[in-house]
Order: sequence, then C-alpha cells, then structure tokens
Amino acid sequence: MPRPIAARIQPDAIRHNLQLVKQSATGSRAFAVIKANAYGHGIERIYPALAGADGIALLDLDEAVRVRELGWTKPLLLLEGVFEPADVELAAAHRLTVAVHCDEQLDLLAAAKPQHPIDIQLKMNSGMNRLGFRPHAYRAAWERARGIASIGAIGLMTHFANADDGHIDWQLDTFDAVVQDLPGEQSVSNSAGVLWHPRAHRDWVRPGTILYGASPTGVARHVEGFGLRAAMTLTSRIIGVQTLAPQETIGYGRTFEVDRPMRIGVVACGYADGYPRHAPTGTPIAVDGVRTRVVGRVSMDMLTVDLTPCPQAGIGSSVELWGDHVRVDEVAEASGTIGYELMCALALRVPVVVADGTDTARATQAHGERVAA
Ligand SMILES: *Cc1c(COP(=O)(O)O)cnc(C)c1O
Repeated sequence: MPRPIAARIQPDAIRHNLQLVKQSATGSRAFAVIKANAYGHGIERIYPALAGADGIALLDLDEAVRVRELGWTKPLLLLEGVFEPADVELAAAHRLTVAVHCDEQLDLLAAAKPQHPIDIQLKMNSGMNRLGFRPHAYRAAWERARGIASIGAIGLMTHFANADDGHIDWQLDTFDAVVQDLPGEQSVSNSAGVLWHPRAHRDWVRPGTILYGASPTGVARHVEGFGLRAAMTLTSRIIGVQTLAPQETIGYGRTFEVDRPMRIGVVACGYADGYPRHAPTGTPIAVDGVRTRVVGRVSMDMLTVDLTPCPQAGIGSSVELWGDHVRVDEVAEASGTIGYELMCALALRVPVVVADGTDTARATQAHGERVAA
C-alpha cells in the first residue's frame, strides 16, 4: 500500500478552460503553452485535451519531438528558439516554428541548409528586457530575416512584463509603432492578455496558466467568475490524529501553540511531495470537503491541520491540498509564490492518476515517471 497521496489530472478541465480562452479571444487562434511538461501536468496526460488548440508552444526541443510523435500536425512553436546548429536541423525535420530573439539565432539560421524553410516568430523586446530585439533594432532584424533563405514565414511576437496588473499599453504601443507596416501574423498575449486585454489578442494568443485553471496574477479572486476549472487536484488522507491541550505545540520549531483543546489531523503530504514548506499556519486546506487551515510547520512527509471545523474527521479522512475546493493560487499566495510554481514543482514521488470524462481514474505512465500503483 503506497502512501495515500495522489495528484489527479483532469484533461476535461483543460478542454473546458481552452474553450473559455476561445470565447474570450474570439478572433484569435490559440497556441496552448505546455512548457515545463505542461506546467507539471504531464504532456502525454493532457495531450488529448489540446485537440481544439490551433497550435502548441513550449521550450524544449525534446518536448516538441514528443508532441510530434503523439501525432500533432498543427503549428508547434519553440518559445526560446534554437541554441545550436543541430537544433536547426531538428526544427526543420519536425516542422517547428522557432522564436528568434537575437542576432546569434539569425546567424544559426543563415548558416544552416535545412531541407525546407523554417517559419519563425521574430521577438521584440518591448520592455520585458529578457529576450528579444530592441525596438530600434527590430526592423533591421526583420529585413535580415527576410533575406535568409532558410527562413520561411516571419511572425511578429513580443511578451508582456505585467499583463497581470493592468498595464500593457506602454509595451503594445511600442510594438505597434515598430511593426505597423510589417506583414506577418502577430502574437503578443499570455494568459493575462487573454483575460484582460482584448486589444492584445491579435492573430494568435499564447495562454499557459489559465489552461490549467490557475490565475496569471497568482491571486485566486482575480479569476473568480471566469469559470476556470482546476486541472490538477492534489489529495491525501489523514494518517494520524492528536488531541492537544492548551499550551502544547505542534511539529518542528514548535511554531504553533494551541490556546484551547484542539484536534489536529496529520496529513500524508510534505515538502518532498511539492507542497511548499513556506505555507504558514492559516494556509487553506480541505478535509472531507470542509475548508480548514494548516497549523504548524510543514515537514518533509507530513503536515498538520486544525480539525475544529470538521469534528467528524479522523484517520482515513480525505484531504484536498489544492484543487476545486482550495485553489492552488490560495496555497501559493499564502506561501509567497504563484500557482505556476506549485504545479511545476509537483514531486516525482507523487502518484498521478488521469481522470477522464467518465470520472474513472486511471493510472498512467508519463514520460520518465513511475506508474501509480
Ligand atoms: C510561458 C509563456 C507564455 C504563457 O504564459 P502564461 O502566463 O502562463 O499564460 C506565453 N508566452 C511566452 C513567451 C511564455 O514564455
């Protein structure tokens, strides 16, 4: 019998969230962003839910090859482009679209002789200051790209620094001023752009986190009412119960002292499972469907919860660490991070089950991972 912890992945939730994206950005095609092994969900597990996407975007060449091997024939975009000459050959062989963000990548493409031209997305650094050509250098880069025989269609791309708090105009105005008379499909919106900036929808949108049901701001209430469903539910069970008297403390560091008699549930989930050690006393958690709070310090394999709101709970009671009762964003916010990080950090030791539409969970083996018992 393995520990009772499990992550349940629901492709149906992703299908539903993708539908919401399509309704929000009606005139645009959508690249489903599945970098980082689909934000921790597992590319192979969620792949069937992406049928309605117009393209897929990710970072790693080997992930892109996996997606082609699954049968994906539509556009497949490498968001950071190529890193060395061999990548160019693979990009051509698998018909990948590659982001091009610097002169060195243009050099790689210029030096290559692929079997057929490679479509690119020419990236502008409009203010994020990570990757991309500066606005003043962008047109020259575009002219150069147009003259390179191994380059096919040239898309126009940029990325927003703070689409999550309402300010994109300064970047989009810069972008528009530079590309105004350039042909090519435009792609500028991440999840936040999809939700809150219709002006930025353009030809293609690039939603990531909202496909998985998490908030682009990291704050759950910012996406309330949008109807997103959680694609990952992390559950476990109570494996111990303690009844404490006033002044007794819980766990390492004795960080929580009870001020009244309190029943405490011990949950089989800790930071070695990917639950954040920084989650403080008060972090929401659900026991038997009732919301309560984490108390005391999260340890490697266990954490402790206040059973006051659920007096019927005992050993064997089900616990939701995050999912539809407790949003991953709520746990993240309490812990000083964002849902993205928690989803991506789900530990390899956690068994994963895929729940299909009929609600029968089935254990799956994803790339390089163990099968749930
Ligand atoms: C990760 C990423 C996205 C998706 O971002 P979300 O905030 O998860 O929607 C879009 N575009 C680029 C270039 C990215 O790297």
